[in-house]
Amino acid sequence: MMAAWSTMRMCWLVSKDRGCQQIKLPHLEMVVIGRGPETEITDKKCSRRQVQLKADCNKGYVKVKQIGVNPTSIDLVNIGKDQEIKLKPGQILHIVNNLYPYTVQFLEEMGTCGGREAVEPKGEKRPQDGSENGGVENMPGKCVKMEQMDPQACDSGCKLNNSSSSLSSSGSSSKSQECFEYWAHGLKASMQNPDMQVYKDEKAVVIKDKYPKARYHWLVLPWKSISTLSRVTQEHVELLEYMHAMGEKMVQQCPEKDTLRFRLGYHAIPSMSQLHLHVISQDFDSKWFKTKKHWNSFTTQYFIDSKDVIVMVKKKGRVIVDKEIAKLLNLPLKCHVCKRQQPNIPQLKEHLKEHWPK
Ligand code: AMP
Ligand code: ZN
Repeated sequence: MMAAWSTMRMCWLVSKDRGCQQIKLPHLEMVVIGRGPETEITDKKCSRRQVQLKADCNKGYVKVKQIGVNPTSIDLVNIGKDQEIKLKPGQILHIVNNLYPYTVQFLEEMGTCGGREAVEPKGEKRPQDGSENGGVENMPGKCVKMEQMDPQACDSGCKLNNSSSSLSSSGSSSKSQECFEYWAHGLKASMQNPDMQVYKDEKAVVIKDKYPKARYHWLVLPWKSISTLSRVTQEHVELLEYMHAMGEKMVQQCPEKDTLRFRLGYHAIPSMSQLHLHVISQDFDSKWFKTKKHWNSFTTQYFIDSKDVIVMVKKKGRVIVDKEIAKLLNLPLKCHVCKRQQPNIPQLKEHLKEHWPK
C-alpha cells in the first residue's frame, strides 16, 4: 500500500563554507543562531544570539534580524542592530563581519504521519524544491543514492540536518560533503562533461537535461558564472540573446522540429545553480515527468519565455517575479494545449498523447 505522503515546503540555511551544514528553518518559526555548536562558529565577535531568522516558505524568503552588536550582512550590506532584512535564495548572508556565509534554500519535502523528514521520494523539488529520486530519502546520517536523483526534486542531495544537530560532527561528513557538492553543482559538473555536452562555443554550452521532461530537453548555460535568474542584469542582455539563439539552433537541428512545438524559457525560481535556459519540446513524453510540480513548472507562468526575460531585463534591468509565483506549482493539472483539466498525472499523460503528432 502507498504511504500517505504529503508535500511540505521547507526552508534550509546552508553554509557556503561547509556545504553539508544545513540548519532547518521551520515555516514562520523564530530561529536564533550565532556562536555555538550548531554553526560551529567559535569567533568571539559573533554573539551566541547573533541573528534571528524567520522563514516564510510560502513567500520564499527569510526575515533576518541582527541581534548581536557586530554587523550581520546580506550581500555585503550590513543589516544594522535590531534591523531586519529579507534574505532570498541566491543572496548571501554573512553571520558576522562578512564571515560565515550562508544561503537559503526552499525545498519541497515529503512528510508522513510519523513525522520523520524525508525528501519527496518520487517527485521533484521545486522552489526551491528540486528533484527526482528513485524512492530515496534524505535522512540525517545517510547519503542518498545521488545517481538516481534529480536535484530538481530534492535540493538537498545530501544530509539535511535539523537545527538541533550538527552535520559535520557526524562520522560521514566527507561523504556527505561529496554528495552535497554533487547535487549543488550538478549543472556545473554536467556542463563540463563531454558526455552531456551537445554543443559548445566560447560563450555557452548546451547539455542534455539529465532528467528530461519531454522527448527533447536541453539546457543552455553560459560559461560565465551567473548563479541564478535573479542575478541577471542589463549587462547580460547580449548573453541572454546569444543563449536564446543557441537554443533556437538546437531546435533547428532537431529531427522532429516540423512536428513538435518547442519552448525556450526559464523557471521563475530555478532549483539548480548556474543560469540555464530550458529548450523543451511540448510533448512532455517522458518518464521523468512525474509530478504536478513538474507539469506546472513548465506549463504555467512559472516558466518564463526567454524572449520575455530578455525584454524584461532590457526594460527593468532585472527579472522580477511575482511574490506568489510558487503557488502556481500547486494549480490543478490543465492540458497546455486544449486547457482541459485532468484529474491526475497518469490521466494527463494519457490525454497528452492525443496532441502528439500522428
Ligand atoms: P530548474 O528548475 O530550472 O533549476 O531546472 C533544473 C533542470 O536541471 C531540471 O530540468 C533537471 O532535470 C535538470 N538537472 C538536474 N540535475 C542535472 C544534472 N546533474 N545535469 C543535467 N541536468 C540536470
Ligand atoms: Zn489537451
